[in-house]
Amino acid sequence: MPTTLQPTASILDLAYPELVAWLKERGEPAFRAQQIFQALYRDLATDYAQMATLPKALRARLAAELPLVAPTVVRELHSRDQRTVKLLLALADGAQIETVLMLYPPNPESPRARATVCVSTQAGCAYGCTFCATGQMGFTRHLRAGEIVAQVLHFARLLRAEPWRWPAVPGAAEAATGGALDHITNIVLMGMGEPLHNYDNTLKALRLLNAPAGFNLGARHMTVSTVGLVPAIQRLAGEALQVNLAISLHAPNNAMRAQTMPVARKWPLDELLATCLAFARQTGRQVTFEYVLLAGVNDQIEHATELGARLAPFGPLAHVNLIAVNVTAAGYQPPSGTAIRAFRDTLRQAGVSNSVRAERGDDIAAACGQLRTLNQSKAQPR
Ligand code: SAH
Ligand code: SF4
Repeated sequence: MPTTLQPTASILDLAYPELVAWLKERGEPAFRAQQIFQALYRDLATDYAQMATLPKALRARLAAELPLVAPTVVRELHSRDQRTVKLLLALADGAQIETVLMLYPPNPESPRARATVCVSTQAGCAYGCTFCATGQMGFTRHLRAGEIVAQVLHFARLLRAEPWRWPAVPGAAEAATGGALDHITNIVLMGMGEPLHNYDNTLKALRLLNAPAGFNLGARHMTVSTVGLVPAIQRLAGEALQVNLAISLHAPNNAMRAQTMPVARKWPLDELLATCLAFARQTGRQVTFEYVLLAGVNDQIEHATELGARLAPFGPLAHVNLIAVNVTAAGYQPPSGTAIRAFRDTLRQAGVSNSVRAERGDDIAAACGQLRTLNQSKAQPR
């Protein structure tokens, strides 16, 4: 009996060995899997009709049993500087998610241009962080692996069709000369949802995008961002896939964290940091701690001092990414530039590596969950 798949299954849900098995069950040779992966992930085909290397009968069977589906674009917004593109996508069942493309020209710290896709792993989120628009809408469902992969393919096709060109800066160093980028260089799981709550589909999607026969994106160019699910972080440490880990910390102690992040009641900060330290030591990789600055809540010097002390055991294995909160309906305000610099300096004096994330696409509500919220409130005026 051929494998029966759920009716909503898409070709993008199949790992390479699964595709080989599917073909074998239908009397097709294994090399067809290679041709299909090449067509999907290298040629970025959007239709089986484009897969000229495959026999017509196989194409018809694939189209019937494993459709090559793409989400529908509900809204597409471009930031004024054209370096951020944000999409509101509708999946086959109507669930809506957000995906963002961020383009970065070369700079002295990062001499290669980057095209980063910020991917959603769930529709909504179950963790309810108070400052997060996604958290405030609740959980709808997990995304399938193919629905995660499809977000990356969408932007990969866009860049392939129309490479992004950045202009030369007269008199600047070589790193700032003009150039063009026609492919995705990085993926961050910082869209809607908690990736480690949807562990299996997320890891499957990352493996699919990592597969050398296909998209071939290096694991070091992938970042999993998590609210801090301790057992899942332990599991991730043992995976052969060497992805980067980012932790949404947002507070220097558990009592404070619990006020904005309900997850702190389940997985206390001490346990989370001990798990992260073990992850960093086991993998030899630096862990990034995201810290969203909320004016008057977690942005005082004493908070920076406490954070510095907490992260001291990591030495160079910790990096703090400071982010001024994006204003949502929750009403939190970003601190002033002076307050952010003071926070930064205190961390630096404590020996903790840190950076301030330049906010992208403010003018198009680029923070996760904001666009869907905006769209829904527009659709249902009160
Ligand atoms: N659930 C995962 C990944 C998605 S959220 C996580 O929490 O890590 C991606 C990042 O955006 C997280 O660091 C999250 O805390 C942050 N974020 C959420 N709401 C934000 C807001 N209003 N302004 C700035 N960052 C926000
Ligand atoms: Fe979920 Fe992350 Fe938003 Fe928290 S910050 S509600 S975990 S998406």
